[in-house]
Parts: sequence; C-alpha cells; structure tokens
Amino acid sequence: MQCPYCGQDNDKVVDSRSSEGGRVVRRRRQCLACERRYTTYERPEEAVRLTVVKKDGSREPYQREKIFAGLQKACFKRPVTDEQLRGIVDAAEEEIFRKFDKEVPSSFIGDEISVLLAEIDKIAYVRFASVYRQFTDVGELIQEARDVKDAPSVGPEQKDLFAQDGK
Ligand SMILES: [Zn+2]
Repeated sequence: MQCPYCGQDNDKVVDSRSSEGGRVVRRRRQCLACERRYTTYERPEEAVRLTVVKKDGSREPYQREKIFAGLQKACFKRPVTDEQLRGIVDAAEEEIFRKFDKEVPSSFIGDEISVLLAEIDKIAYVRFASVYRQFTDVGELIQEARDVKDAPSVGPEQKDLFAQDGK
C-alpha cells in the first residue's frame, strides 16, 4: 500500500478489524519510511462491481455511502442512531447482493430501504420515500403521510398536545 504522505510502498499493518457487519475490513497501517499512520478500507470486489440502473436509464457504481447519506438526511433530528441506519443498509445489501449480481434497479434499492426504515421511524420513512420512490403525484405522498398519521404509534409529545386540547 502506497503511503499517502511520502508515497513509499513499504508499510506494516498495526491494527485490523472488520466493520459494517463484516463486509469491510478496516486496517490501520504504519509507513515504515516516514512512520506516519493511515487507515485503509477493504471491501469485497462484488460490492464495488454492482451497477445501479436509474429510472432514466443512466448507470452508476453502487455506493453504500450514498445510501447511508440519504438515510441520514431522512433521519435528520429523528431519534434514529447511525447504528440503526447501518443495520438497515446491511439488511438491504443482503437482499440486493442475493438477487442481483451485476445490475440493480435504483427502485429496488429504494423500496428495500423504505420498508426497513418504515419499521424504525415513520417520519423518516415519508421523507426518504418522497425522495427515493419519486412519488408520481402529490396525492400519493399525502396518502402516505395520512397513513403514518393514522398509525397507532403516537409519540409522548403528541399525547401532551391532545391532553392540552381537552382542557
Ligand atoms: Zn510514508
């Protein structure tokens, strides 16, 4: 591995651990020439090779980070941890890599993520779905929001609101 600081190809691995459910190996390396340390991430080639086919027919390499970033955006200020989001991506990837080996439609990824996210946070789900499932018309989004509102899971802050109304 070429050192990012001095360019020498002479290093030793000082620490090695897997993350993201074993899909990625993170290695801490030390350059033997300049002694500086840096980190490398290794993932199986299959994961990198997968191509996402978008609705307009354009293609781009599958990027786990992109999905994760989209989830984080949808969960802004929601009580959802990065750990839960990683779990969602892990579970979705399992399905994606099981069913597709070269190309996967972006809609399939969006659907998988949506279903998993809906189980964790309804608000984040509606936000995510409005972007990734690209609702064909506004009515569909409103219906989706209504379904969420009517769902029995009412947060404590909402209960308080109802109580005040009753006074
Ligand atoms: Zn170096």
